[in-house]
Amino acid sequence: MPKRYGEMSKDMSDAVLVTGGAGYIGSHATLCLLEAGYSVVVLDNLCNSSARSLERVAQICGRQPHFVQGDTRDTALVEQTLKDHNVSVVLHFAGLKAVGESVEKPLMYYENNVAGSVSLCKAMQAAGVFNLVFSSSATVYGEPETMPIDEDCPAGVPTNPYGLSKKMVEQVLTDLAASDDRWSIALLRYFNPVGAHESGLMGEDPQGIPNNLVPYVSQVAVGKLAALQVFGDDYPTVDGTGVRDYIHVVDLAKGHLKAIDALKSRKGAHIWNLGTGVGYSVLQVVKAFEKASGRDIPFNIAPRRSGDIAECWANPEKAKAELGWVAEHGIERMMEDTWRWQRDNPEGYGV
Ligand code: NAD
Ligand code: UDP
Repeated sequence: MPKRYGEMSKDMSDAVLVTGGAGYIGSHATLCLLEAGYSVVVLDNLCNSSARSLERVAQICGRQPHFVQGDTRDTALVEQTLKDHNVSVVLHFAGLKAVGESVEKPLMYYENNVAGSVSLCKAMQAAGVFNLVFSSSATVYGEPETMPIDEDCPAGVPTNPYGLSKKMVEQVLTDLAASDDRWSIALLRYFNPVGAHESGLMGEDPQGIPNNLVPYVSQVAVGKLAALQVFGDDYPTVDGTGVRDYIHVVDLAKGHLKAIDALKSRKGAHIWNLGTGVGYSVLQVVKAFEKASGRDIPFNIAPRRSGDIAECWANPEKAKAELGWVAEHGIERMMEDTWRWQRDNPEGYGV
């Protein structure tokens, strides 16, 4: 008998499958789910993470997720996992996310992100699970002409295979939901996730040299990298540097629990922006990080990075109205929590 989440009472014996749950955002979502009383099964192939993140989850909340080391492209394994654990809803974080790498290895990105998502949906269908929350990205908007960006803003053309893979998966899921009204799907378009759990025990642990601003800045602060390269100071923005909507990872994780609740009374595919609605420039982020850490962040102005847009921030009103969700933490808290994690774990989970 297929399980319809909308028809269930709050029966926490039903589990949530978190794909990519050992990763940066997935581990914070796993913690939030456990703290809210859900049973959680994490499926992760650990290609960009360590299972130590889940040990830290258990250290913080005293509860463990069940861990399956496996791949979303292994349809049979995913189907069996869904059945074995009586899963009723899936949070789908698993995927590759490095923009530059996606340009060099497009097949790897389309296979992992697009084929992996198709495989997951086939497994869900076979197991009778029709509730899905997908990690999409503001990158699907391309370069919008007006700010802030709301969900009605037409999806643009992402400039790289990573962004295109997110757009493609959104299309696959939209078509799937239109074809079969048993599906309830949330497409969550994240803006720029940063920050760490307030305990300092969990945070972002990029492999190699970070591609993203805040992990790079925090490694400069701790002395692992010499200086930040600021990619362009001639954009039409407040100080010439790129502006983004940074969102605390714990606020983002909480948005997923709100999406699970919202799907109970909704069929079809629904898009929600998860952002704060406030944009900060690169130099404003550097300043906020210096204040939080008490360290100087040396920087040089470098040429613009190919594919970057000048500015991007969310209109988060739809998520507020329909999910009852708003981001609570401001830039100061994002930087303080990032710094605590970086300072206490200079080698990330490798310590
Ligand atoms: P992450 O790399 O820390 O986490 C992704 C996890 O998925 C990793 O633990 C990795 O080992 C796992 N994984 C990758 N491919 C897999 C596969 N085929 N099968 C099983 N596990 C697999 O990344 P994150 O920052 O936590 O991002 C999570 C999701 O959110 C991704 O889909 C990403 O594209 C999306 N997203 C991230 C950002 C961001 O800036 N971090 C922004 C927008 C959207
Ligand atoms: N950025 C930078 N130096 C870096 C990394 C990023 O100046 O080493 C800038 C980048 O040009 C953009 C902002 O910081 O304006 C955020 O970049 P990030 O890669 O973190 O996120 P994106 O919005 O590109 O996904």
